[in-house]
Amino acid sequence: MAIQRTFSIIKPDATKRNLTGAIAAKFEVAGLRIVASKRIQMTLAQAETFYGVHSERPFFGELCEFMISEPIVVQVLEGEDAIAKNREVMGATNPADADEGTIRKEFALSIGENSVHGSDAPETAAEEIAFFFSGLELVG
Ligand code: ATP
Ligand code: MG
Repeated sequence: MAIQRTFSIIKPDATKRNLTGAIAAKFEVAGLRIVASKRIQMTLAQAETFYGVHSERPFFGELCEFMISEPIVVQVLEGEDAIAKNREVMGATNPADADEGTIRKEFALSIGENSVHGSDAPETAAEEIAFFFSGLELVG
């Protein structure tokens, strides 16, 4: 597997509880390098665009309101097989189903307030990185 980049969000439930560093450490221990990082707060329009794929799901409104409720930390992670590796470190969407040692098992509060987002494929990783970061913010 080649070196990849993936996009990550440390979600409001985690920034609020001062878990940014603890979550970043999990990425680094797993061999993912944080090559870009910034703390922002999304507008509702940005959240609705970002989660557009879920617009028909019953939890869409709740998800977007949650994602704008506090600042988030958006990051680009780089490493061998980074997209799959990040999903592995994150754990299952529902913390009740997440494996021991994963971020969601350790930190998530519920299926909605689940501490992190990670891209699920090379195409979405590229789109999501470009949505939040300009070329100038990304060191080669
Ligand atoms: P993410 O896209 O955030 O990395 P994921 O790929 O594991 O998570 P998705 O199915 O893409 O999960 O869902 C996106 C997000 O929507 C979840 O991370 C969670 O915050 C929220 N979500 C998913 N299912 C539910 C649900 N049943 N009830 C409430 N919120 C949900
Ligand atoms: Mg997803």
